[in-house]
Amino acid sequence: MTAKIIDGKEIAQQIRGELAAEIQHLKTRGIVPGLGVILVGEDPASRSYVTAKEKACHEIGIYSNDNRLPATTTQAELLALISAMNADPKINGILVQLPLPKHLNESEVLLAINPDKDVDGFHPLNVGRMVVGEKAFLPCTPHGVLQMMARSGVKIEGAHAVIVGRSNIVGKPLANLLMAKGKMANATVTVCHTKTKDIGYYTRQADIVIAAAGRPNTVTADMIKDGAVVIDVGVNRVEDATKKAGFRLVGDVDFEACKAKASLITPVPGGVGPMTITMLLYNTVESAKRANGL
Ligand code: NAP
Repeated sequence: MTAKIIDGKEIAQQIRGELAAEIQHLKTRGIVPGLGVILVGEDPASRSYVTAKEKACHEIGIYSNDNRLPATTTQAELLALISAMNADPKINGILVQLPLPKHLNESEVLLAINPDKDVDGFHPLNVGRMVVGEKAFLPCTPHGVLQMMARSGVKIEGAHAVIVGRSNIVGKPLANLLMAKGKMANATVTVCHTKTKDIGYYTRQADIVIAAAGRPNTVTADMIKDGAVVIDVGVNRVEDATKKAGFRLVGDVDFEACKAKASLITPVPGGVGPMTITMLLYNTVESAKRANGL
């Protein structure tokens, strides 16, 4: 079997098109969704993520309030900016790019964001709401994974999904969403991590394997069953002298070998990555609608 590729760029474009149309409609009612973006420091990867997010906002008509702060920014200065954004009616979503420089207290910063503007879905109140099945901003990467499976016709209900990775931003929320009662859910979920004794024992039983470990070749072809759906969340830099940058990006899955065995598979790049930014845009539009009672 050769897997069909799930094209994250194409699905992301489709959703962004739907959002752009919705934003046009909101603008006729005087509503302009707004995202406040905060980047502290000069980390090159963070800068490129933030630039991509700002560009995506402009393309679909979201107002973005961009704040690039020096690495010397103090906790008090950062909290003051968040407080101003919490109070600004033009801003419906607040995004603080992580990781923050070491001298800043990340959890205090995330707690300072008004949960109603927490479009990353990292505030404990939103995490709690998600876990108990109440309306919440869903974290962008897990939500993107669900959307790309649903729009590719993957049957999640009744499936056994095995997730490799249990981080707070990917593995854990994804497990909660997949096991929830409802649409794009009702799966039986197993979560593996570094202390799991034999990861292959679990992944070989999986209808859906989701790799989110941050390590190349964590999932190899002998670890999946014929016809499995394979979703690769990982983004890893590996040295490549043939590339101008000196590296190329790979996921956590041995893509070529797994492609020969799976029914559906996501590539890296061009898989989950474009979906993550798209779901941030989605949450910002949702927040603008909620703020206006829609
Ligand atoms: P993280 O916080 O480092 O968590 C990694 C998780 O994977 C941990 O739970 C860890 O287990 C587990 N793990 C690591 N190596 C493992 C191994 N060899 N076998 C089994 N489990 C292993 O990473 P993250 O933030 O969740 O991100 C995971 C990957 O996804 C990274 O490559 C990241 O760049 C990528 N990512 C991509 C997007 C996107 O938009 N495409 C978004 C977010 C993250 P322990 O808990 O036992 O340590």
